Amino acid sequence: MGVDFEKLKADFRAVYGTAPDFLRDRGIYDTPLYKFLEAMPKGGDLHVHADAALPMDQHVEFLKDHPELLITPEWQIRYAGPGAPYGSRTMAECLADGLTVEDFRREWTVLGCPEGEYLWDWFEGIFTRCGAVCCTPPLVKDYYLRVMRCYHSCGVEYVELKSPFFGTREDALARGRALMEALEEFRREDPLFVLRVVACGGKNDVWDPLFDTLMDNALYVREQVKDGDEDFVVGIDIVNDEDRSYSLSRYEERVRKIIASNPGLGLSLHAGESLRGENREIEIALRCGIDRLGHGFNLYRYPELREEVLRRGICMEICPVSNRALGYCSDFSQHPANAYRKAGIPIVICSDDPAYQSFSILTGDYLAVVVGWDLSLEELKAMCRASLEHSFLSANSPRRAALLDWFNKNDYFCRI
Ligand SMILES: [Zn+2]
Repeated sequence: MGVDFEKLKADFRAVYGTAPDFLRDRGIYDTPLYKFLEAMPKGGDLHVHADAALPMDQHVEFLKDHPELLITPEWQIRYAGPGAPYGSRTMAECLADGLTVEDFRREWTVLGCPEGEYLWDWFEGIFTRCGAVCCTPPLVKDYYLRVMRCYHSCGVEYVELKSPFFGTREDALARGRALMEALEEFRREDPLFVLRVVACGGKNDVWDPLFDTLMDNALYVREQVKDGDEDFVVGIDIVNDEDRSYSLSRYEERVRKIIASNPGLGLSLHAGESLRGENREIEIALRCGIDRLGHGFNLYRYPELREEVLRRGICMEICPVSNRALGYCSDFSQHPANAYRKAGIPIVICSDDPAYQSFSILTGDYLAVVVGWDLSLEELKAMCRASLEHSFLSANSPRRAALLDWFNKNDYFCRI
């Protein structure tokens, strides 16, 4: 192939430095470095949130293909039927009336956050506006077929989807089954692909009262939906903006109980996604017995916790594009996870909410750390492999072995 990786990095940095903006600097996506990283086998994405994965152009395409979904004058997606607000239109009608992907990108990504508004308010508002995008099992199935195609096209063969199971047990089961059906259908195109679910509760005011229901639903789906002999729901997590939500301490006892009574269930908790000094969420997450840490951005504030994370070999899920989009870090050379990595803490590069934070899925996250941390090809390859090694697939899973085999035998890095 004869690619000079160092030159690709230098050329990129000469134009964008180490602080590319993945929503405003559109030229990024045409650079040789981006193309190189897009084609690179990456392994897995261990941290992506449900129904927030498809890049906006494909999100719009999905809605265009589903006239049962309407867009209200307030840019809210809702299922067609009685009570749809006056002025609601299908996506096809919106586009025929002159709206473009750019209009939806403004309304449904962090790009559109009005000056002075708290970014997380706008961001969570997007989830509210787009929340109905997968409100029936057929919609779930089609959406995730597209998501898996999208991942496959950029060298990702394993995805852990962080998804809540809202509603009754039957609603939860229907969603779980639709996800599994999407996987089975996608395997006709790509037999290697593995999709798994990390079931989520939440800690803000809206999600908190549902916590026990969400966990009960998660365990029910785990029991009922299998991928052959293997578990489909492989872990649990608790999400939402932590600076304004309840502390993890509120859920600690319940989480420990769930983990103790469900052997093999992985635990990853969002913690440390904060710039605040008084935030002690990582400490509580460690007490809960996490296997992986979601973000852990502010670990640098707590040397003793950093030692513990290192000693216990806890893997950190790092989401650089999201960290920039939500204002935690603008220059990737300053991203604290570089120091965690250098200290020997395992890290994996993940995408978080690509639909609402970027133009693409996962490639930008790798680009951010390649230029920000000046990674060598060897370091990059090891990081990609880590995304399979730290998955919640069980140690003796044949699918885990097949994924690692695929990655290890891939000669993409050798051809360079
Ligand atoms: Zn997240």
